[in-house]
Amino acid sequence: MTNVPGIFAENVFNEQTMRERLPEQTYMAFREAIEGGNPLDISVANTIADAMKDWAIEKGCTHYTHWFQPMTGVTAEKHDSFLTPSDSGKVIMEFSGKELIKGEPDASSFPSGGIRATFEARGYTTWDPTSYAFVKGNTLCIPTAFMSYTGDVLDKKTPLLRSMDRINHEAVRILHLFGKEDVTRVDATVGPEQEYFLIDRKLYDRRKDLRYTGRTLFGARPPKGQQLDDHYFGAIKDRVSDFMAELDEELWKLGIYAKTEHNEVAPAQHELAPVFTSVNIAADHNQLTMELMKRIAQKHNMACLLHEKPFKGVNGSGKHNNWSLSTNTGENLLKPGKKPEENTQFLLFLAAVIKGVDEYQDLLRLSVATAGNDHRLGGDEAPPAIISMFLGDDLEAVVDAIIKREDYESQGKVMMETGAESLPAIKKDTTDRNRTSPFAFTGNKFEFRSLGSALNISCPNIMLNTIIADELKEFADELEGKKNFESACRRLIRKTFKEHKRIIFNGDGYADEWEAEAKKRKLLNLRSTPEALKHYNDEKNVALFERNHVFTRREIEARQEILLDNYIKIINLEALTMLDMAKKDIFPAVSRFTAELAKNISAKTAVSDKIPTAAEEKLLEKLSHLLCAFCDKIDELEGELPGAKEFERDKGRCAEFYCDTVFDTMQELRAISDEMEMSTDAKFWPYPSYGELLFSVQ
Ligand code: ADP
Ligand code: MG
Repeated sequence: MTNVPGIFAENVFNEQTMRERLPEQTYMAFREAIEGGNPLDISVANTIADAMKDWAIEKGCTHYTHWFQPMTGVTAEKHDSFLTPSDSGKVIMEFSGKELIKGEPDASSFPSGGIRATFEARGYTTWDPTSYAFVKGNTLCIPTAFMSYTGDVLDKKTPLLRSMDRINHEAVRILHLFGKEDVTRVDATVGPEQEYFLIDRKLYDRRKDLRYTGRTLFGARPPKGQQLDDHYFGAIKDRVSDFMAELDEELWKLGIYAKTEHNEVAPAQHELAPVFTSVNIAADHNQLTMELMKRIAQKHNMACLLHEKPFKGVNGSGKHNNWSLSTNTGENLLKPGKKPEENTQFLLFLAAVIKGVDEYQDLLRLSVATAGNDHRLGGDEAPPAIISMFLGDDLEAVVDAIIKREDYESQGKVMMETGAESLPAIKKDTTDRNRTSPFAFTGNKFEFRSLGSALNISCPNIMLNTIIADELKEFADELEGKKNFESACRRLIRKTFKEHKRIIFNGDGYADEWEAEAKKRKLLNLRSTPEALKHYNDEKNVALFERNHVFTRREIEARQEILLDNYIKIINLEALTMLDMAKKDIFPAVSRFTAELAKNISAKTAVSDKIPTAAEEKLLEKLSHLLCAFCDKIDELEGELPGAKEFERDKGRCAEFYCDTVFDTMQELRAISDEMEMSTDAKFWPYPSYGELLFSVQ
């Protein structure tokens, strides 16, 4: 048995380690700098760097790196060694405060959306002391923010920290209006639930599509899929549980509280949920978790798929972003308490969220828009592309009663009879689960459910924090100085509920009627990534980010361009991979099989023309027709790709072209291949089938 408390956070230079290893004065100076948001004095930084280096060397480190999150979607690191030549011709291990605080990676290799001209290739990384340094392998990793020489933001951490400052500031203002003078800090807290697939490594290696693009581009449905729903919460297989045990241990060493792990709906699919923390740390931890999942899977001869939709016709993977606000005094601001109808403070925060989600549906939608996630949203397995909110029956009744100025009759907790004498009656939760809502209230937090599994959670949380901070500011401005604060608050809450009620929807988000109803309510339905990204630089959105000092217009436009570019590159790579597979593997395989059929027919006929060959002939004819159609589609797809050049200067148009034209042809090409796969001798088929991939790990 692993000694969990013994290993927990052993690879993290956290508060406790700092207290143990730093002179008291240094530690106090560090705390003061963080709490006051002030820069660190260089002498303090030098002492911290030295202690950090000694600690890391004891853990076997020889190198350090500034670990950052550029716009590529993955983390980046540039390793430097602690080794410094000394005068005596030997080496000493050194690490200065300057090296801790600032790094200068060459920014030219990271996407900047045109912000960074080539002559200003320089970029800076700066230490984020609110996220602890940690050890990975032989390297001390220092979480950092990344910006250009000109001060433009090039990463995901900087705006996230800015948005946290904003929500902190405005939420504290509101709480002071409620007389809570002891509150000095409000943190956005997040617990991201992570879904993933595990498949056998040997089979993975034989699929070009998985290796190049993360998802299967061809593949017929297996006879057994998820129709029996026998995987969900089913017994965990040995290889998977070995993987999970090692993953848990490595996560614990990094101070990541991984909590529950269970099978998901699809075969070979699993989920990991960490205990929530402040969102900056949650984002770092989630990046590390995804990295570790991949690495540890490989050690266990498996491949971890983090793609949002690795298999067509099988549920994809998401990431549920559980979000709330929490004070330094330990209060969860989204906890309704026993009588939400009387809890003005809760209702005011709820009103801010309702108003924010309604006014900035586009930003929330585009914050989860990626080529991979387009396969899920609206596909009856994940929330629709329409952003709405689920409050649950009780809370919606409270909102309704307030709007109608009626008294709210609380139902209290309802006891549910289990029907068996030996089982106690259990309390029913007041909020039922609604798996179909993109943004669901789950008792004391909101669960933003539209995120794809591979996403860096920073982006949706930058949006959430900024949007809600902005609404809170508007509320605080209005309420400050009001003589009768309570009744002014109530009026504001009622007005907000009334004006933004359209965003609340408790029904089935998968139903077609919802699409029609949402249209009536004039809610946005941004079906694809290019459609969603168009709205990034809408004037109201630019104004929001600028007045909150989270992004400048230039930074927004750069981000929009990077995201569009990313979308274009992904579809382009998928199309090229498909063509490669189609021409080099699938066509030859089917051609060989049809030749064998033809050979068999002549062999039979040669024996006697009385031997029937109709079965082979029928199949031969069917496959030959399909193969011709397949070839035509290959030509069509190949012919379309150069068409994208026409829109080289307009990324938005180019992305639309890939979405509307190229992607459609890809689907058609796939459909023909999948039909051929179902009629082709498995021995000829060049790739492991869906059945093999999904049921490979025992
Ligand atoms: P459920 O299973 O009912 O959705 P859990 O308690 O398992 O609820 O929580 C799911 C995720 O939500 C976990 O990652 C958990 O840490 C997170 N979570 C719980 N409370 C909060 C909170 N106040 N703020 C942010 N995340 C939270
Ligand atoms: Mg949940």
